[in-house]
Amino acid sequence: MSLRFTDKVAIVTGAGRGIGKAIARRLASEGAKVVICDIDKESAEKTAEEIRKEFATEALALFVDVADENSVNAMVGEVIKAFGKIDILVNNAGITRDDLLLRMSVEDWDKVISVNLKSVFLCTKAVARHMVRQRFGRIVNISSVIGLRGNVGQTNYGASKAGIIGFTKSAARELAGRNITVNAVAPGYISTEMTEKLPNELKEQMLRQVPLGRPGQPEDVAGVVAFLCSDDASYITGEIIRVDGGMAM
Ligand code: NDP
Repeated sequence: MSLRFTDKVAIVTGAGRGIGKAIARRLASEGAKVVICDIDKESAEKTAEEIRKEFATEALALFVDVADENSVNAMVGEVIKAFGKIDILVNNAGITRDDLLLRMSVEDWDKVISVNLKSVFLCTKAVARHMVRQRFGRIVNISSVIGLRGNVGQTNYGASKAGIIGFTKSAARELAGRNITVNAVAPGYISTEMTEKLPNELKEQMLRQVPLGRPGQPEDVAGVVAFLCSDDASYITGEIIRVDGGMAM
């Protein structure tokens, strides 16, 4: 495989495990220096260690709480100190706190909006400052098919993921003049710890809605993110690509 990201510096949030980890591995496998940041510093360290062993590139593990402005700014400062620039940002960290609307607490609403949506604003703002100066950047936000079509028990999550789509299009328009693209990927049902914890009945029900007949793998999402970060996608911005086996078409 050709090394599409040699000399590029990429931050992936929530990369200690799951989809974020697969994205970081994919970018590193193609030459990127990757920053694995996560609220779980231990999992970030483990993933970075794995990447350093497996691929001939640098991997830096950093703690970040993406919902906290000071933490995000400190993380971005560390990256600049270590690598001097940032070329790619993947806003991947996200959580669920599911409940039916009538039972949903304000705490669960606020928490999901903060970790999933406010985080995208905070990280993009902190990183875009550096990208604007170098007149190059690739930003990919991880939305969800739930942001496109909704889901019972996920008003908070659906709103956060739909919010990411609106943010993506507005930021794409604002940053286009500086050669920075901003796109989003909307995964469907992907096998990770986030979906592993769902009841079997719900998993089977979701699978029945997938025309391709299998859950996606984190690597299915990672490949599309890598494409959006590559030169092949340099004329794509403000786009939302579903990676869902046909689930939400
Ligand atoms: P996981 O729960 O497996 O991984 C998410 C990672 O983000 C965890 O390591 C988690 O750490 C970390 N994290 C949580 N909160 C924060 C925070 N405040 N700051 C920094 N890191 C944090 O999730 P997935 O890999 O399944 O999902 C990744 C993204 O993809 C999410 O945005 C999700 O909404 C989206 N997505 C997933 C789908 C799926 O089917 N899996 C479908 C559609 C979208 P910790 O474990 O400590 O919480």
